[in-house]
Amino acid sequence: MEKSTKNMVILGAAESGVGAAILAQAKGYEVWVSDMGQIKPSYKALLEQYHIPFEEGVHSEERILSACEIVKSPGIPENAPIVKKAKEKGIPILSEIEFAGRYTRAKMICITGSNGKTTTTSLIYHLFRNAGYHVGLAGNIGKSLALQIAEGADYDYYIIELSSFQLDNMYDFRANIAILLNITPDHLDRYENDMQLYTNSKMRILQNQTEEDAFVYWADDPIIGRELQKYGVKSQLCPFSLLHKQGMIGYISEGKYVIEKPTPFNMEQESLSLSGKHNMYNSLAAGIAARLSGMDDNYLRKGLSDFEGVEHRLEKVAVVRGVQYIDDSKATNVDACWYALDSMKTPTILILGGKDKGNDYQCLRDMIKEKCAGLVYLGADNTKLHANFDDLGLPIADTHSMKDCVDACATMAEPGYTVLLSPCCASFDLFKNMEDRGDQFKQRVKEL
Ligand code: ADP
Repeated sequence: MEKSTKNMVILGAAESGVGAAILAQAKGYEVWVSDMGQIKPSYKALLEQYHIPFEEGVHSEERILSACEIVKSPGIPENAPIVKKAKEKGIPILSEIEFAGRYTRAKMICITGSNGKTTTTSLIYHLFRNAGYHVGLAGNIGKSLALQIAEGADYDYYIIELSSFQLDNMYDFRANIAILLNITPDHLDRYENDMQLYTNSKMRILQNQTEEDAFVYWADDPIIGRELQKYGVKSQLCPFSLLHKQGMIGYISEGKYVIEKPTPFNMEQESLSLSGKHNMYNSLAAGIAARLSGMDDNYLRKGLSDFEGVEHRLEKVAVVRGVQYIDDSKATNVDACWYALDSMKTPTILILGGKDKGNDYQCLRDMIKEKCAGLVYLGADNTKLHANFDDLGLPIADTHSMKDCVDACATMAEPGYTVLLSPCCASFDLFKNMEDRGDQFKQRVKEL
């Protein structure tokens, strides 16, 4: 098949892929969408509505490899056979954000990190909207950037959550404000179990930044600190920390949340709506981005104190017979669980387990000893949990369904305790996804 200069293939027909297809068509490309799995009916309907040709359950190789460019869904790994073949042929493979970014002049505020992306992205969006900015939300959250641009959105700012998978296929895109929250092991299965490859991917958020841009990052992250030495960063460095150290743009000091630059701001730490150490980081990153964008004191103070948080992230579900139940189903790695436990103020029954992504649980042991009054394992196979934690001598329950799990928690917990679902693992062994796990938890708690 002839290679046309305007022939775009989209691999993967979910939120980002369908958005990219619609935008590509609007920009005059000939578009072809290919999905190896079944396309969700709502996305199929959208493709049909726009008369965009597609296939599902198969990748027609010849047609795909005739593309001048490919937009690949972040869910498709780099080593998928069709991606490898496209690379061998030298066809550029872009992420949806890279592609859509060509068609907007909006300021891009981009958030990445191993943990805290969704919370920080949602908080910044909340701050900007409430302060009256003309702002859109995109990336791994909500509507795709491509669809919004195709539909004619004309925002001044986009707040974009970027996963490492999106970043892997970004080349010319430039973040005006780049936020890097932390780098801890996650998704290593997609990076040849090589932490450096995953780290390189996260650091791509810096690429193309100029002196006019800003790089906001957690100063105490050992990996970020080390990596920064390797890059000749041109943008304005905006480090934050929980400690008031030299050079910090944002920090916590004597119970106050402080931002020093570009203009000074402070408020009582107590008044921040999000609690827990990890959320101090997220609130500092968000506040710095707001301040860099000229937000005034009153809007910033109000937005930081009335943000309601994001579902399944340390979400308070209910108090039943004196026991507080908390849904942190999104904690799918060890670091997230560590921070969740760190923020617990009463004896905690911790629910953990699920599909393990190669976790090293050792670093949780001290925190569990300090905070937990019992452990409830919830997974198809709990062997590894038994091996790591049974010897701590805490009461243990072994469960394989949400009903049994919540019942076991209710039996173990005494009034004044907290039950925390912060499982360290993905959910696919027993649930559709982490939302399903969290929803089932909440439902069961309500039935207690
Ligand atoms: P992401 O989108 O990066 O997965 P989320 O905001 O959805 O991040 O939070 C994922 C999990 O990580 C939640 O369990 C949350 O409590 C925890 N978390 C949030 N922010 C941080 C942070 N800055 N550092 C460590 N853990 C965090």
